[in-house]
Amino acid sequence: MLGITAIVYFSFSLIRKSRVVKETQLIESEHFSLNYKGILKSEAEEMSSALESNYHRIRIELDDPNHDKINVFVHPTQKDFNTATGLKNSTANGTSRGPFAFHLKFETWYNSFLPPDMNKVAVHEFTHCVQLNILIQDAIAKKKFKNEDFDKEFEKFYLENYPQWFWEAICDYEAGMVNKTSVNYGMKGNPTLKELNTSNQIYNVGYTIPEYLVSIYGKEKLPDFIKSYCNFEKVLGVSEQEFENGWHKYVSENY
Ligand SMILES: [Zn+2]
Repeated sequence: MLGITAIVYFSFSLIRKSRVVKETQLIESEHFSLNYKGILKSEAEEMSSALESNYHRIRIELDDPNHDKINVFVHPTQKDFNTATGLKNSTANGTSRGPFAFHLKFETWYNSFLPPDMNKVAVHEFTHCVQLNILIQDAIAKKKFKNEDFDKEFEKFYLENYPQWFWEAICDYEAGMVNKTSVNYGMKGNPTLKELNTSNQIYNVGYTIPEYLVSIYGKEKLPDFIKSYCNFEKVLGVSEQEFENGWHKYVSENY
């Protein structure tokens, strides 16, 4: 039985290999330039449509100011992805490069155990670009840093002050990346938000944090929450711990 399964799997893998696009191709849509190779043309077209159909919803919801066209680079293997991004020994399937570019490693049943929905991964990475654009434009508007040192000072300030848990959580939320089993697994021991800054469990539970925020305080708080670098007191009128307790309770009741 296993032998037959293996042969069928191997055959499909060969068929896929013969059908994927060998040379880099480009799909230009209104807001994205999608560069791809090593995946099917139909997969690239679906991703391009998924990005365009989520573009306005997310930018309106988070109040993103003007946004230049975004370059998307889709790679077929981890090696291609790591070479293109300069990441060493990375196992990531996506990373953003500033507000106007992101890279994806396209995962399928042939190169991944339980591959994710790559269209959702693309929307997740796009949301990173949106967050960065909002923070950069806001810093420019408020003249937060001196022009000549802007890039360096912004990056330093961002790395020291923007919480990693929210950086990921809002992307999973906007991309609709959530499932009950993973949430329950990740919520074992009720992690604090601070713990999620350095834990992979953020990818299991991240969606539920903005979901809870929106359910109690409303979607319209999201833009200010981002621009405040996640200041609970100022934007939501509660302490981080009060929010955390409410979130724990919300997840235990809803998942
Ligand atoms: Zn991410």
